[in-house]
Amino acid sequence: MPEDLSATVSTAYDAALQVIASVEPRVAEATRQELVDQRGSLKLIASENYASPAVLLTMGSWFSDKYAEGTVGHRFYAGCQNVDTVEALAAEHARELFGAEYAYAQPHSGIDANLVAFWSILAHRVESPSLEKHAVKSVNDLAEADWERLRRELGDQRMLGMSLDAGGHLTHGFRPNISGKMFHQRSYGTDPETGLLDYDRVREAAREFRPLILVAGYSAYPRRVDFAKMREIADEVGATLMVDMAHFAGLVAGKVFTGDENPVPHAHVVTTTTHKSLRGPRGGLVLATQEYASAVDRGCPMVLGGPLSHVMAAKAVALAEARQQGFRDYAGQVAANAQSLAEGFLRRGATLVTGGTDNHLVLLDVTSFGVTGRQAETALLDAGIVTNRNSVPADPHGAWYTSGIRFGTPALTTRGFGHAEFDRVAELVVDVLSGTTPRTTAAGVPSKATYDLADGVVERTRAASAELLEKHPLYPGLELA
Ligand code: PLP
Repeated sequence: MPEDLSATVSTAYDAALQVIASVEPRVAEATRQELVDQRGSLKLIASENYASPAVLLTMGSWFSDKYAEGTVGHRFYAGCQNVDTVEALAAEHARELFGAEYAYAQPHSGIDANLVAFWSILAHRVESPSLEKHAVKSVNDLAEADWERLRRELGDQRMLGMSLDAGGHLTHGFRPNISGKMFHQRSYGTDPETGLLDYDRVREAAREFRPLILVAGYSAYPRRVDFAKMREIADEVGATLMVDMAHFAGLVAGKVFTGDENPVPHAHVVTTTTHKSLRGPRGGLVLATQEYASAVDRGCPMVLGGPLSHVMAAKAVALAEARQQGFRDYAGQVAANAQSLAEGFLRRGATLVTGGTDNHLVLLDVTSFGVTGRQAETALLDAGIVTNRNSVPADPHGAWYTSGIRFGTPALTTRGFGHAEFDRVAELVVDVLSGTTPRTTAAGVPSKATYDLADGVVERTRAASAELLEKHPLYPGLELA
């Protein structure tokens, strides 16, 4: 936030909280308390960040009241001229920032963006060869009998994505998500020795399974991906390459991932969230080549509810921010800080999945501390360090208790943390985990959930964190009355 605006931002929030308090004071109080809590904790959740006051303030407007189904210049409601302006700006910034042929700013979240992508890829595949046979231009014009046949064809479609314990996401064909019902799914893992993505295995799986969609992208893989290779594999088996860059979009925007590590020139369709490393409002985006554009454009109402115009406006602001040099510096620092954190762990004898990182996240295998991911997550939280537990490859404790903790650097980098601070974070984490001992259950076996903490570790860690956080305040200059 520019320093000269901090007094204005303070006034804006004071006024907003006063107005909210006049209707429901408990909401005003919870909002105020959320700032206090966020300011006072070491936020290391890899998927979270702190959006700028400009982005946050943009969301609190009367754009929220406007219905705008349809696309820019082609709405099913009257009076959408200002929504057109902000949606067109969001799409333009996205195209320019990522070098994409086409951008769609309507998805409400990453999951929604993926749904739009699945629909578009299916529609594109069905429409290109099949509709000619039926002599119609769009699936909307198909007779019911033709629909039935196409539904059967679609029902046999396949998706190949990264396995969950290698770092993939539920929306990449897993059962708790609709993608697992829409597609027959198979997953590719990582090399059991190195933990790294093995492109030969991906190719082998693709040749055997012949997916319609090859999905690349992850939630918890601490390395870069060669998207040129993934495209080569997709082309070899006639698959569409879809990249879900929800986690690392900020590193693409900030030009940390370039060439073969930048998915945009290589994928047919790219999806992302806007609120993680990209540091925008909660939401999603779809980028695509021109040939997918008309299908993507039908995302609402095909799979999305009416666009959130106030959020699209905030996406435009965040994407404008991401086009500035300051964002490139930020993205570079996010990756450098992940290295510092990883090195800090390794120097203190901890084990990391893949042995390190070259993106924004670090996956710590907590087995050597004798605890589960669940115990580690709660013990760290007791000490004021906010993380989340995560499976590691071939996790002996499964997806609920897990054996890993995922750390991300985007949020604390926004606060100004650098190498020294992340090294100190590694020291604090190792100190807490070394002082965590599983309790014994009534059956005499170590519990996977409960634990005891060594005397003094919580107080010591909280004091050290407070020192770090005070040096790097969140929203410096924002003072509430
Ligand atoms: N895709 C990936 C790779 C993610 O990591 C996530 C969220 O964690 C999503 C999609 C879903 O994003 P959202 O929570 O905005 O729906």
